[in-house]
Amino acid sequence: MESPFFTSLKCRECGKLYPKKATHICEDDFGPLECAYDYSAISRSISREAILSRPKSMWRYRELLPIDGDPTVGVQNGFTPLVKANRLAKALGVDELYIKNDTVNYPTLSFKDRVVSVALSRAVEMGFDTVACASTGNLANSVAAHAAAAGLKSYVFIPADLESGKVLNSLIYGTNLIGITGAYDQVNRLCSEIAGKYGWAFVNVNIRPYYAEGSKSIGFEIAEQLGWKFPAHTVVPMASGSLLTKVHKAYQEFIKVGLVPESRFSIHGAQAAGCSPISRAYKENANLIHFVKEPKTIAKSLAIGTPADGYYALGSMRETGGASEDVTDPEIVEAIKLLAETEGIFTETAGGVTLGCAKKLIESGKIPRNEPVVLVITGNGLKTQEAVMDHIGKPSVIKPSLREFESLLAARTDA
Ligand SMILES: *Cc1c(COP(=O)(O)O)cnc(C)c1O
Ligand SMILES: [Zn+2]
Repeated sequence: MESPFFTSLKCRECGKLYPKKATHICEDDFGPLECAYDYSAISRSISREAILSRPKSMWRYRELLPIDGDPTVGVQNGFTPLVKANRLAKALGVDELYIKNDTVNYPTLSFKDRVVSVALSRAVEMGFDTVACASTGNLANSVAAHAAAAGLKSYVFIPADLESGKVLNSLIYGTNLIGITGAYDQVNRLCSEIAGKYGWAFVNVNIRPYYAEGSKSIGFEIAEQLGWKFPAHTVVPMASGSLLTKVHKAYQEFIKVGLVPESRFSIHGAQAAGCSPISRAYKENANLIHFVKEPKTIAKSLAIGTPADGYYALGSMRETGGASEDVTDPEIVEAIKLLAETEGIFTETAGGVTLGCAKKLIESGKIPRNEPVVLVITGNGLKTQEAVMDHIGKPSVIKPSLREFESLLAARTDA
């Protein structure tokens, strides 16, 4: 059965159409391929009522996701909370602020569960029995878990120096985990070679067009959860830049198929100062992205020195009137603590990047204080404990005695 909505792959550069196979680059100009849809057919089928009647998962927008049949992997993923963050809003000095909380995405606690659900559902449709990925950590966890649940073989490639939480959260699922001595870009280059040689579905290489589309679901959910409108400002962390371009595509598609009226929105990008090739190009008003050879940041999930979608992310920010920022490691830690202490949400380093950059965008006036803001918080702090371990104090230890407790309390109130 062929989807009546998802029609083909299409080159982002020249528009040439390709059949829906495991391929990702245009043979004429090496442009990236993306998924193309028949939007008039979708407008006739989709409606707010139809969506509201479906289960609360990312698959309630299924007409706009690139598979032919029913999803088979990660069917329950997505539809994470959009939290109205009043205490954080006050701390930042803005009127209306929300957290899109993918720290609790099912099942591996990051937004990567969205992209993997689409990639592996599509891989199963195309008949693959082995899946693989190059990862900065969260993708590794998600591919390993979903492959296990789907009964697929998996090979997962990571930089050898990842956080122990990210390593453990891959190994537990029994995947073939391979650490490469080198940065993510070297891992990725090796994976391109392997993908060419073995008949595997490499989620972010040969089936990347399908994988990347899963990111749109976070944009669809934000719009629905705000009452079928867009926030004036959405702040998105950038590694390859893919997620940011897909939030943009999601908002545009909701307008195209008539779910949200045409309205203004700005999409802003966030990077860590120790690996900020996209943010740097934005600030220099350049189109050329200077690659970062040796990323140096605690935000390892975002440490991609040669961002595949960086050029398009710049385009999305400029076209929507967004801006880009970057933050240092101490600023990331401070932001992680601020989010935890004001909203009770423990994010990984990438979320610290998003919040830290949002703070700068507000202070510089690029995000006006009276306009609604959504921060896309993409991963869980339990996986990057090293980053904050030395910055959060220690528990007070006492004997099991009321007297000891009372003198502790008195010492604390005195201070
Ligand atoms: C992968 C990832 C991102 C963004 O990745 P893109 O390559 O830009 O799509 C953001 N946050 C976290 C936690 C991630 O793991
Ligand atoms: Zn092309």
